[in-house]
Amino acid sequence: MRIARDLDSLRREAAALRAAAGGGALALVPTMGALHAGHLALVAAARRAAPVVAVSIFVNPLQFGPHEDLATYPRDEEGDLAKLRGAGCDLVWLPSVEAMYPPGSVTVVEVAGPPAEGFEGAHRPGHFRGVATVCAKLFLQTGAEVALFGEKDWQQLQVVRRMVRDLDLPVRIEPVPTVREADGLALSSRNRFLTAEERARAPLLAASLREAAAALAAGGPAAPVLAEATAALAAAGFAVDYFALVEAESLRPIEALGDRPARLVAAARLGRVRLLDNIGVPPPEGR
Ligand code: AMP
Repeated sequence: MRIARDLDSLRREAAALRAAAGGGALALVPTMGALHAGHLALVAAARRAAPVVAVSIFVNPLQFGPHEDLATYPRDEEGDLAKLRGAGCDLVWLPSVEAMYPPGSVTVVEVAGPPAEGFEGAHRPGHFRGVATVCAKLFLQTGAEVALFGEKDWQQLQVVRRMVRDLDLPVRIEPVPTVREADGLALSSRNRFLTAEERARAPLLAASLREAAAALAAGGPAAPVLAEATAALAAAGFAVDYFALVEAESLRPIEALGDRPARLVAAARLGRVRLLDNIGVPPPEGR
């Protein structure tokens, strides 16, 4: 497994690996490190998608707000590299902040409408500008033909897809289903900050999404279903940022299931940890 820490060596190593693979395609898995089984599912999907697999590890300051957890975001370079070696990764891109954003960098990429509006876009102003900017750079730096993104961050996946379409970037975005603990909690690098007592309550978010999806499948308006889920979470000590039914691609809120694919998206804080989850909602029964 090769490791690149500056752009010249990244391009050199990527070219060498592609040549060794007979001119094959490169699949990229962008991450912020502190890797878990969810990230490794993306790496496994990348292995199936292309002969050369690259993983980037970069805690992107541009996507953190001034009062967010950039300074305390978990970092474990040694552990991450060991996991990536075991997962069959060929190339790790580990840029410093200066390598990613050399002094004088001022150019950003902004998805200036849906799906970046609302939800994470509203709760974390500037977040998707940071995500879009770093992803555009990562695609151009690696020349990836394919990039893998987790459905865990549903809105991010739609924002990246929109950007790729709008900018005609020559990369295919492949989604990977959310990897969960046995009790339903979606894996996340931030879960390690849950106390034992919070960890025991945390699966309620996923359970509420599953229950709401089942209730919506019967047809009828979403509002009472969403209100009940929000109230149940609040009663269990969650501070709910949102629990909403949206059009899957645009993230526009909808009042009931229709013919288009829909998604339930939720974010709630439990102690110091902000949990994010979502679930697909099939069309109403009988349609
Ligand atoms: P992060 O390191 O949190 O920025 O995540 C990097 C990538 O891994 C993103 O595409 C995430 O959506 C994806 N990811 C994070 N957690 C999970 C999970 N539990 N299941 C599947 N993908 C995930």
